[in-house]
Amino acid sequence: MRTQRQVVDYSLRKRAVLRELLAGRVGTYDVCDASPYLKSAARFHGEPTDERCPICRSENLTHVHYIYGDELKQSAGQARTLAELPVLAMTVRECQVFVVEVCLGCNWNHLVEQYLLGRDGLTGSPEGGQDQDAVGGAAASGNGTGSRRRREAQR
Ligand SMILES: [Zn+2]
Repeated sequence: MRTQRQVVDYSLRKRAVLRELLAGRVGTYDVCDASPYLKSAARFHGEPTDERCPICRSENLTHVHYIYGDELKQSAGQARTLAELPVLAMTVRECQVFVVEVCLGCNWNHLVEQYLLGRDGLTGSPEGGQDQDAVGGAAASGNGTGSRRRREAQR
């Protein structure tokens, strides 16, 4: 997408969770805890993928795109289909998208990535002063590791 920027990839974090699971330090009940809301969002707004669920290996993962931002007003926090995002990107200056993978079979779910969309991305460099860690830290489940994750993601 043209206005997509400040992408944060959570694949390393996901691998760490899977390692913990394999080592028995967390149980499947800890990580396969998709809420009814997340599952219905996956059914109605989700994007099917070819990727097998790493836990049950019997279902393919579905990606759900959640949108956040002050400009979205009451739409903030809602799920949107992938097809709706380019349209949305042209109606706001900036909004944050969180992509979550969900398995409708075993309820595994994990953050895949986050990024910014919106017209601000068309003007080249942003006005500056934006603290992406503040945004990422508040939205991700863990706090204070935002900058570290970003460095890992850029490797
Ligand atoms: Zn599964």
